[in-house]
Amino acid sequence: MSDEANPFESLQEQIDDAAAYLDVDDDVIQRLKYPERVLETNLTVDMEDGSIERFKAFRSEFNGDRGPYKGGIRYHPGVDRDEVKALSGWMVYKCAVAGVPYGGGKGGIVIDPAEYSAAELERITRSFAKELRPFIGEDKDIPAPDVNTGQREMNWIKDTYESLENTTEPGVVTGKSIEAGGSEGRVEATGRSTMLTAREAFGYLGRDIEGASVAVQGFGNAGWIAANLIDELGANIVAVSDSSGAIYDPNGFDPVDVKEHKRATGSVTGYEAVEEFTNEDLLTMDVDLLIPAALENAIDGDLAEAVEADVIVEAANGPLTPDADDVLTAKDVHVFPDILANAGGVTVSYFEWVQNRQRFYWDEERVNEELESVITDAFDDLTTAYEAFDVPNFRTAAYVVAIQRVVDAFTDNGNWP
Ligand code: GLU
Repeated sequence: MSDEANPFESLQEQIDDAAAYLDVDDDVIQRLKYPERVLETNLTVDMEDGSIERFKAFRSEFNGDRGPYKGGIRYHPGVDRDEVKALSGWMVYKCAVAGVPYGGGKGGIVIDPAEYSAAELERITRSFAKELRPFIGEDKDIPAPDVNTGQREMNWIKDTYESLENTTEPGVVTGKSIEAGGSEGRVEATGRSTMLTAREAFGYLGRDIEGASVAVQGFGNAGWIAANLIDELGANIVAVSDSSGAIYDPNGFDPVDVKEHKRATGSVTGYEAVEEFTNEDLLTMDVDLLIPAALENAIDGDLAEAVEADVIVEAANGPLTPDADDVLTAKDVHVFPDILANAGGVTVSYFEWVQNRQRFYWDEERVNEELESVITDAFDDLTTAYEAFDVPNFRTAAYVVAIQRVVDAFTDNGNWP
């Protein structure tokens, strides 16, 4: 990890880059660069073999000026304090760009979930939920899925919280299964916002998405749904990858078939393709659209020199380092940032929370329509700022919009004590 960019420092650099265009006190900008608080906890959990194992876990509450802290919980061996802090900060600015009334938070457990049974994962999750109980709540801090977590884990968190509190409060966590109070369209929402951002971006740049060649790095929930919905727009998904490697076919893949293959075999490689290569090869392919949909730091400054895509739409959080941004800006590669392009997840989480509180549930059509209007409005706000502030790239434009909204909330609320 040592020569990799520290994501927390990347976040702070992104804030500084945008703050330079705003008339905001540096003291206030300082507030926007650090989390309000970070919980570090150690979970002690019974294993199937009779042993007891310790798991380190975090929850960072970055900023609550615009509403309750909101953000996912990640299960990954690479989770650490600075990563969680960065991810919680990105949530603040993501919610602000999308205009959903939340602050930002993020959590994680240092774990490779593939090494544990479902029963062990349930105990680990419930143990974390017990530690989180004093901090979370539908008006306080609302977890959600992230890398390697989904409906199952969210249902466990909800059940643990409600049992300990002796209440019914489905809005304490979002991303639940439909039967446990989840929303239609939530699973697809992140990939859907990536598709909507790509569609709007191509329109804004005067390019045709129909027939465009697309490479997608990462074939998890965000990547595969984005690939499928962009394929439905008539684009050509010529390369996809996961941690096993990348596959390429100039005639384009059917994302549904590739997903079926991955479901059956565990990876995208081995699917009938013209060529198999590495993730790095995929990231430097000459395509119209590149979608990084895996983890942070996928493209650093060196790799950015070799990038040949014309447009990048970020489905992952933080896939480009600030050095990569500088190189790509100089090369006129248009990057549409994570805090817009994957904001669909938290936007439909917001819809889920609204439905939970009203005990009134929407159909999928309504969810998708409302999501489309949130993302297209946010896209318009971003491009308006891009032109008005004469910023070098769309990421800085997004932060200009987002920072101003958080600063306005902070100023209107007043500083106390
Ligand atoms: N983990 C997702 C993200 O990074 C979703 C967060 C949420 O729904 O609160 O945006």
